[in-house]
Amino acid sequence: MTQLDRMGFPIPDDARELREMMLRFGAEECAPGAAERDRTHAFPAKQIDALARLGAMAMKTPEEDFGPGVSNLGYALAIEALARHDASICVVTVASNLAGAILAQQCTSEQKRRYLHPAAKGEFGALSFALTEPGAGSDAANIKTTARRTAAGWSLTGTKQWITGASNAKLFLVFARIPDEGDRAIGCFAVEAGTPGFSLGRIEDKMGLTSSGTAMLHFDGVEIPEHALIGAPGAGLKVALSAIAPSRVAIAAESIGIAERAFELGRDYARERQAFGQPLAGFQNTRFILADARTQLDQAWLLMLRAATMLDQGVPIRAEASMAKLAASETCGRVVDAMLQLHGGNGYARDYEIERLYRDARVMRIFEGTSEVQRDVIARDIL
Ligand SMILES: Cc1cc2nc3c(=O)[nH]c(=O)nc-3n(C[C@H](O)[C@H](O)[C@H](O)COP(=O)(O)OP(=O)(O)OC[C@H]3O[C@@H](n4cnc5c(N)ncnc54)[C@H](O)[C@@H]3O)c2cc1C
Repeated sequence: MTQLDRMGFPIPDDARELREMMLRFGAEECAPGAAERDRTHAFPAKQIDALARLGAMAMKTPEEDFGPGVSNLGYALAIEALARHDASICVVTVASNLAGAILAQQCTSEQKRRYLHPAAKGEFGALSFALTEPGAGSDAANIKTTARRTAAGWSLTGTKQWITGASNAKLFLVFARIPDEGDRAIGCFAVEAGTPGFSLGRIEDKMGLTSSGTAMLHFDGVEIPEHALIGAPGAGLKVALSAIAPSRVAIAAESIGIAERAFELGRDYARERQAFGQPLAGFQNTRFILADARTQLDQAWLLMLRAATMLDQGVPIRAEASMAKLAASETCGRVVDAMLQLHGGNGYARDYEIERLYRDARVMRIFEGTSEVQRDVIARDIL
């Protein structure tokens, strides 16, 4: 019985096959250079281009728009599979799919031809989603980047921070205030790399996910055409937040993928490493650690599968996505920490994969809404 069958959820064949395909792609194309890229911080351009050509950068795009039309369940399983092999490649894929989902939902026919169809065919590589700013993260409504109407379209000014995949992205979805539409109005704009006045800032020197090309963006009176506005003027924050909820299920999936890999490493190490004349796996403490980790991981899986299944049933979820993300990211932190502890001193050495997983895992509790923000969403739903 596979791990998926043990969950007791009916998994459609197409989702199962997509997961198998991603596991193979991850093992053959991503895992081999992951440690080296982690050390050098090199962006995985070759792997991202290959994934983009497979349609993986905008997976939920319908077939009539040249996408693979993957279900939410298939998407979550694909992300979990990829995360096992390289969490940096995985997070660039998640950020791109967040932007891709917005394009698929909001574009007019003309915008589909300009942005969505090339994105679905992989011509832009990975897309970037640019909401956060130096002064506005959890409090996204407080962004300061501004879009002003011009005779030909829009002029954008401001700074974005922490933008995943930005070092290599060709198309960015940028959120900006539109003062002409009211004090609280925010719009979503498609901005192509190379547009005059748009420059890449510092590439962040992060503790983990070191090859995901996270960067600052500067917009200095960037002139963009009228058709760059995606969705209604003033509806940008609603557009962003309604796409972020499903994307939290993807971060749950990424957290589970990292933790599953850590679990495998810890289990194998416990079988092999000898202490006091027996394998670590012979100590009751080790067996209980593995049993608890397996149980917590299955709990997180079930919440992720529930959230993805509800999305596929057309249920607009908020709290369920937050529960999945909260449970999976917190479980990921605990499991990776416990598996590193099983490695003893070796777990603290860069030669061992568990050390990278420990650093990669930490941010799962921070981005796409911190654990505190998820608890707030869940509490609001309860009360
Ligand atoms: C590696 C990485 C990649 C990222 N990629 C992207 C990306 O591609 N696009 C993008 O737009 N953004 C991205 N982000 C930004 C990310 O979404 C934010 O960092 C996150 O939302 C938290 O915002 P902040 O860092 O400003 O923290 P703050 O909002 O300043 O929060 C600081 C602390 O205060 C707590 N806090 C804040 N408000 C409350 C509250 N109301 N109640 C209780 N506690 C609260 C938080 O939980 C946190 O512990 C990325 C971040 C990282 C680190």
